[in-house]
Amino acid sequence: MPKYPTEASSAAISTALDSLRAEVLRRNPGEPEFHQALNEVLDSLAPLLAARPELLDAGLLERIVEPERQIMFRVPWQDDAGVTRVNRGFRVEFNSALGPYKGGLRFHPSVNLGVVKFLGFEQIFKNALTGLSIGGGKGGSDFDPRGRSDAEVMRFCQSFMTELYRHIGEHTDVPAGDIGVGGREIGYLFGQYRRITNRWEAGVLTGKGLGWGGSNVRAEATGYGNVLFAAEMLAKRGEDFEGQQVVVSGSGNVAIYSIEKAQALGAHVLTASDSAGYVVDEKGIDVELLKEIKEVERARISEYAVRRGGSARYVSGGQVWDVPADVALPSATQNELGADSAATLVRGGVKAVSEGANMPCTPQAVEILRENGVAFGPGKAANAGGVATSALEMRQNAARDSWDFAEVEDRLRTIMRGIHDTAYETSEKYGAPGDYVLGANIAGFERVAEAMTAQGLI
Ligand code: NDP
Repeated sequence: MPKYPTEASSAAISTALDSLRAEVLRRNPGEPEFHQALNEVLDSLAPLLAARPELLDAGLLERIVEPERQIMFRVPWQDDAGVTRVNRGFRVEFNSALGPYKGGLRFHPSVNLGVVKFLGFEQIFKNALTGLSIGGGKGGSDFDPRGRSDAEVMRFCQSFMTELYRHIGEHTDVPAGDIGVGGREIGYLFGQYRRITNRWEAGVLTGKGLGWGGSNVRAEATGYGNVLFAAEMLAKRGEDFEGQQVVVSGSGNVAIYSIEKAQALGAHVLTASDSAGYVVDEKGIDVELLKEIKEVERARISEYAVRRGGSARYVSGGQVWDVPADVALPSATQNELGADSAATLVRGGVKAVSEGANMPCTPQAVEILRENGVAFGPGKAANAGGVATSALEMRQNAARDSWDFAEVEDRLRTIMRGIHDTAYETSEKYGAPGDYVLGANIAGFERVAEAMTAQGLI
């Protein structure tokens, strides 16, 4: 018997959503980031559920909010002084209705189960939006690679993989990078996987080096993709990146390649940051210098101002959102752009905000941007280029093939346009044109829900 008759009233829908929210909070206490990500999705679903009340049946929502599997493990390793350290490892395999679990690994002291669950939950809908065959998962550890030697990072990665290897595989679960996990870490992780399993299984990890199974454009993909998404939002308003003033936060993988692509499209990018402060460069960020400092030397962003000379200044503490701009690309971490910063951006005349990071804008900030008519691209749509290119890497691995830079970038461009159009058209269909949050959540949810329904009660 269906739980809800065909014309589910809006009262019945909100009761169902509220009781689900309460139940998730009760069963997952102390996980504010997960609650925040969940609320953002549930807040978008009412119009879909009104049109398709059958989606309230068969415990579909109840199943989607519960990970299929959550793995937590001990990661012991020895530092250079011979002291034994113990970190905690996580892998949350959230949903495999559309394909093998797919999502990055984050190494950062702030990582805990709730953070991994928020990221894994977002990943389900993001991956669905790409239209590719990938489920959602995420993992990581509270290990802090900052200030650690290469040898320490290698020993940590080897220990982490010594447990993780039994849970992953090219047809099961395919991790990649995220904060604190770049090409170096993926290399150590892949080496240990290969050693333990005695298999050259390239498709088990993505973000690999170009000489050993990696894909062209994977390093650039999240940042490039976010700028391509923002360009589509601007195009809807009859504008492009040419001559726009842009502020970017972060100075890691996503930030660097957001800056590179925005500049390639003619924008003037003024800022980059790390957790200690930010730089403003009136001449525009010198992306090669930034790469040298952050990717090669792994130094702090303050070093950029020292080397760049007159045009750049370093601001200790504070946030890049204080710098007036036309476009803002938050590309560091969750909840880095709050209500006050959103109001400051609006006062500075911002037209578009596109999330390179996952959930960098608080719900209050999103509300302020929305009320002021700012085009807002949520991370699950705007930063999906990274995971989409990971899926292209898996495809190349499966075919033992390698595509050139232009071919992969071309596919990335098509995918980002597709994600933008799907989110936009869905927002129109459900009566909120231009609300990319609603459009992305509904379109991603619908695809997963249909696959789960077709596959029965599992
Ligand atoms: P990186 O580790 O390469 O860079 C992270 C950047 O963010 C650094 O500049 C770091 O500064 C800053 N940062 C991290 N944590 C904090 C914090 N608590 N407060 C202030 N600044 C902080 O990570 P990525 O560039 O890969 O990831 C950035 C964001 O993009 C994350 O939200 C991630 O989930 C998301 N993302 C990444 C994808 C990818 O392909 N890499 C794909 C999709 C989303 P510091 O060095 O001082 O810590």
